Amino acid sequence: MSADPTAGPHTTLVPRRPAPRIAVFCGARPGADPAYAELAEEFGTALGRRGVGLVYGAGGVGVMGAVAKAALAGGAPVTGVIPHELHERERAHKAPGEVFVVRTMHERKALMYRLASAFAVLPGGLGTLDELMEVATWNQLGMHHKPVVLLNNSGFFDPLLGFLDHVVREGFLTPAERALVHTARDPETALDLLAPQSREPAAV
Ligand code: AMP
Repeated sequence: MSADPTAGPHTTLVPRRPAPRIAVFCGARPGADPAYAELAEEFGTALGRRGVGLVYGAGGVGVMGAVAKAALAGGAPVTGVIPHELHERERAHKAPGEVFVVRTMHERKALMYRLASAFAVLPGGLGTLDELMEVATWNQLGMHHKPVVLLNNSGFFDPLLGFLDHVVREGFLTPAERALVHTARDPETALDLLAPQSREPAAV
């Protein structure tokens, strides 16, 4: 603990725990069913209600844009990270929240992972799957221990979860490693797993 020059002889400084920040991986498209954007809005609103920060890919479009707009409207701190090239291309869709512009996709991922204390995955495409697999692999290898939860309220991820079970059966993944990819049916359950310190106290 560093010395505080303003502290008196009987003052003890208690380091403040940083507020949790969750990186959300999800589609830059809205998907075929309006339920995906609705889920994203619900998740963003829940972040705001709990005072949990959002880290995202800084696109004002699709499922991504829906999470960010709802989180910002709900009062959550919102941080986007976007590579220069995408930022230039996307000026028309101004990203909500503060935005870091980085040089490459790899820098973007590295910064998002560093800023986040946990990861939520909502419906999306190849970019979403890439980000999920990378953080899950890092957990598997013990390179970080930040929880990963798939928000699977409509069964969107069922085929992927089935494939992971297949990978276990075929001997490429242990059941313990498979269990590192958590699932939740709704935003509140996901946030209880990802940021338990933000849970609202039970009513008495
Ligand atoms: P996807 O799941 O393929 O829609 O990709 C979502 C991820 O890809 C995001 O988290 C971003 O990393 C990136 N991405 C793809 N398109 C865009 C976009 N138009 N604006 C910002 N990021 C994007």
